[in-house]
Amino acid sequence: MNKKKLFGTNGIRGLVNKELTSEIVIAMGSAIGTFFKRGNLIVGHDARTSGPMFSRAIIAGLTATGCNVFFAGLAPTPALQYAIKNHNMSGGVIITASHNPPEYNGIKVIWKDGIEISHKQEIEIENIYFNKDQILAEWNKLGSKIELHGINTEYIKAIKTHIDLPRIIQKKFHVVVDAGNSVGGITTPYLLQELGCKVTTINANIDGTFPGRLPEPRPEILKDIASIVRAVKADLGVAFDGDADRSIFIDEKGEIHWGDKTFSLIIKHFLIKNPAQKIVTPVSSSTLVKDTVNTYNGELIWTKVGSVTVSQTMKKEKAKLGGEENGGVFYGPHQTVRDGAMTTALILEIMAITNNKLSTLIEKQPKYYLEKGKVSCAEDKKGKIMNKFLQEVKNKNISKIDGVKIWFEDKSAILVRPSGTEPTIRLYAEAKNKQKAEKLIQKFSSKLKEILLTI
Ligand code: MG
Repeated sequence: MNKKKLFGTNGIRGLVNKELTSEIVIAMGSAIGTFFKRGNLIVGHDARTSGPMFSRAIIAGLTATGCNVFFAGLAPTPALQYAIKNHNMSGGVIITASHNPPEYNGIKVIWKDGIEISHKQEIEIENIYFNKDQILAEWNKLGSKIELHGINTEYIKAIKTHIDLPRIIQKKFHVVVDAGNSVGGITTPYLLQELGCKVTTINANIDGTFPGRLPEPRPEILKDIASIVRAVKADLGVAFDGDADRSIFIDEKGEIHWGDKTFSLIIKHFLIKNPAQKIVTPVSSSTLVKDTVNTYNGELIWTKVGSVTVSQTMKKEKAKLGGEENGGVFYGPHQTVRDGAMTTALILEIMAITNNKLSTLIEKQPKYYLEKGKVSCAEDKKGKIMNKFLQEVKNKNISKIDGVKIWFEDKSAILVRPSGTEPTIRLYAEAKNKQKAEKLIQKFSSKLKEILLTI
């Protein structure tokens, strides 16, 4: 594991027993416990095979510093985040690697407001860890481990208070859930039953080897659920990532929709009920999101890419809705974090209230075509190339919040952004037709390559 830098975009991640071992997790537990200065913390985990092992390790480390641990066991990340707030805890630790393959696991540290800790707080924990500044408690001041039951039920109950229950129940929707063999399967099917739905599940057995599919719900690996939705003539399909904070939807025709499209439906629905509100989204989101916020008179706030930034911006700006293109929707009235089950309930509410099928709702939205590209670039040249690129850009409508995003007059757009993990610069183009999007990738790739030759 990279020295002096343990936390990535969403907590600590690593290959089990290679990069991330129980020894590291115990020491990290004591660093986190020292950071929280004792207090009461919730611990839970997703379905990974290493979940119970790392939970025991983190609990050993935390209780050694005098923290009391309320152990919730298997639960979706948003259910644990909700429980932290609901039970007035000092914070929590979630053992999950979210959408990573099964051989990975990780640690997410959550603050008392249910949101992952800030970058500054991560550095505090890293410093305690690397300087071995953990403060261990006296033998008679050790923390206790208390079993905490019922958080998944409390979470389902809370979601139900934010939607028009009778309208949804009346519709008797048939929904297919692909839980990806992880924790989405222990909450959403039960929530849907209480929403009067007929529920068909696939990959709903908990199995940390993830035999059904990989935990990242990308359209190309969701073919099973798409064909089952068609075969059983369901109204909707939903697939979750490994810790069930992200959800990707499939319409009644078996068409899989990327997150921008369903997020835009939620924006419209929200702004009609709550005029002039702020909507928070990373600069990587589609122009569709921008169009929808403009059409329904909301105020759009762009952020850097990353769910913690979206949560924290929402909090700072007192915004009630946020979303990402990967299927993460942050519904503030419930909680300011991504929440797959909450998002599912909102999509059903929209279908019930508008009396429309998902395919029809999406069909009515403006259409954009997306293309991606990349240019190889050594780590030490990334800063220079981006600076030079920025000097050459003459457009007025541009954002420098994360990489460089340019919006053109004909509604096309391009985002040029250095990868955080690979020696490449990534390009994301979108336009009203496929050819135009491809052209933008070609044009800007050549431009970057030209600049690269001069530095
Ligand atoms: Mg996740």
